[in-house]
Amino acid sequence: MKEIGFITALSTNNLDAIRAAPKTDVHSHAFLSTRLRNLEKWLGHSVPRPPHRMNGLEGMMEYILAVLVPLQKSREGFEFVSASGVNDAIEDGVVYLEMSFDIMMTRFYPDGLVGVKTYIEGLVDRFKPQVNLRPELGIPRTHVSDASLMKFAHEAVELGVFKSIDLYSFEEACTPEEVKPLYDAARAAGMKLKAHVGEFGGAEEIRRTIELLELDEVQHGIAAAESVEVMQWLSQHQIQLNVCPTSNVMLSAVPNLASHPIRILYDNGVTVTINTDDLIIFGQSVSEEYLNLYTAGVFSAKELNDIRLASLSKAENNTRVRNPSYK
Ligand SMILES: [Zn+2]
Repeated sequence: MKEIGFITALSTNNLDAIRAAPKTDVHSHAFLSTRLRNLEKWLGHSVPRPPHRMNGLEGMMEYILAVLVPLQKSREGFEFVSASGVNDAIEDGVVYLEMSFDIMMTRFYPDGLVGVKTYIEGLVDRFKPQVNLRPELGIPRTHVSDASLMKFAHEAVELGVFKSIDLYSFEEACTPEEVKPLYDAARAAGMKLKAHVGEFGGAEEIRRTIELLELDEVQHGIAAAESVEVMQWLSQHQIQLNVCPTSNVMLSAVPNLASHPIRILYDNGVTVTINTDDLIIFGQSVSEEYLNLYTAGVFSAKELNDIRLASLSKAENNTRVRNPSYK
């Protein structure tokens, strides 16, 4: 599909044509990465839908604990959801996918990280013709105090499977200082460093976390829009924010899509990308996120195409393995 086609596709509400254009998703959690209907098909029964608005991460966790975790607490469930999530991304035209795999997945494998490595390498190989899957090591802030899990995390950094690292869950559950040794090890192993920050918290904490952990990119980071100074700093240091608009609306971090701060970030020179976060909960693919932002009047079709092309070009710089479908 030619680039001009993406602009036309947006302005004519042509979702199929938007899907056909190559895109990236660099903020996706494997455990929650497929559409709910695929999980339902696999389970053979329906699953309650998440509420349209939830009270932050607490609200999301209530839904996960009540509905999803009982369905995913097996290795089979985890492997189904993550493979189905990669497949969903491919069907949506995603050609470069940074998907995070929570370190707690090691509990599913009797041989620990050996099993994890085998599974993830198999997943990368299986989908290689269609997508450049870049596995990311996911660290839940709630478990950073668990010494045995952190030992696994340090070993996982040395595996060579994970191309990046991410920190998430409740921002108050651990300080960035607590993961500094792990991040230093990840840096030494050549991994890209990312963390969730500024999804709900303030702009200064974003800058502090980036400086302390020497982050390359931030997951969410939308609170930076509160501070022109922090936005200028992000722009100067070329720190990319990997934004998930529907996630922010459904978790009540922003009131609605039309007033999403991604516009303010963009206008202040901050590099932004558009991503899914958790497709199983938020229900919007990358293509749908692009279309929603256009329909809500947040960006013009030309601006959205610029964001798409910039994310593709950044993805190419991240890897020497070029996907044949890259333009
Ligand atoms: Zn996330």
